[in-house]
Amino acid sequence: KVVCVTGASGFIASWLVKLLLQHGYTVKATVRDPDDRKKTEHLVALDGANERLHLLKAELLDDGSFDSAVEGCIGVFHTASPCYFSSTVKDPQAEMVEPAVKGTLNVLRSCAKVPSLKRVIVTSSLAAVVMTGKPLADHVVVDETWFSDPVVCEKSKQWYALSKTLAEKAAWEFSEENGIDMVSIIPAMVSGPPLQPTVNTSLLPIVKLIGAETFSNATVTWVDVRDVATAHILALENPSACGRYCVARKLLHTCEVLKILRDLYPDLSLPERCSDEKGLVSAYPAFQVSVERVKSLGISFTPLEVSIKDTVDELREKKLLS
Ligand code: NDP
Repeated sequence: KVVCVTGASGFIASWLVKLLLQHGYTVKATVRDPDDRKKTEHLVALDGANERLHLLKAELLDDGSFDSAVEGCIGVFHTASPCYFSSTVKDPQAEMVEPAVKGTLNVLRSCAKVPSLKRVIVTSSLAAVVMTGKPLADHVVVDETWFSDPVVCEKSKQWYALSKTLAEKAAWEFSEENGIDMVSIIPAMVSGPPLQPTVNTSLLPIVKLIGAETFSNATVTWVDVRDVATAHILALENPSACGRYCVARKLLHTCEVLKILRDLYPDLSLPERCSDEKGLVSAYPAFQVSVERVKSLGISFTPLEVSIKDTVDELREKKLLS
């Protein structure tokens, strides 16, 4: 049972590698620099890693870079992609779109050469689903039939959404043309305890609340990292899995995240005042996400209170909180 995980040092991928090793798989894990101990130490320390984890060097934009990593695999999990907030991006094409789109095609081209391969699981994002231009509101249920419109993403300068939308579309086209059995996993914003020794992008909204003077007026749909990793594995192991799977637990306003944090940690310094004078009507529209499809794979979701607690406990343990 040999599988490949691309971008293995990342937040989601590290959990995926850990659970795959627990499930008895041999994991070929790609990283950009296998000698960078900060990126690999936590992987090498996992149970089963000595015997069944192989680190390989691969870069999304280097043609053929993933050939040896996917060789002999029954499953490939393609998680590697730039994952930052769009506001920090200077050159959207070079920083986000090209690595996401060309990188995904590069991985799939390597996959197309592997006769043993049963399925490729591509990590997409809710950002590749919700930006259709259709209005979002409390009562609107977003599901896998939605696909973000690149024009809408570009107009609103949502470069991350653009990169994930174009990458997932390209992946479906390539897989259909080349007879690859592909599934996409579509996580909401991911919380949970980091295995890697750094704060990744999706934990920032929680980390930045601690010690802050004001909080943002926003709603975010969250899901726990362990559930996202499990969904990837279920998508490989369930022979009838197909198509797209949204993986989301719950939409929370920043106020609700703060309430959970206050109840759990009365000693934490947390903001009382919203940065938006207009009140608490979120700057982002609220919406629901259908999780019927992913539930049919057998997933049960971690409560967000547990996820947030485990996040903060682990960040404290790793001394990543100020
Ligand atoms: P991380 O930033 O923790 O991980 C991203 C990984 O991609 C890193 O291992 C990174 O390598 C790798 N990567 C980026 N650019 C390249 C490149 N040019 N060549 C090779 N590898 C590269 O993010 P997450 O774990 O949070 O995200 C993983 C996947 O999940 C991404 O596809 C992301 O879009 C998706 N996702 C994440 C969500 C979230 O809330 N976290 C929500 C929805 C989807 P390196 O460490 O060397 O930089």
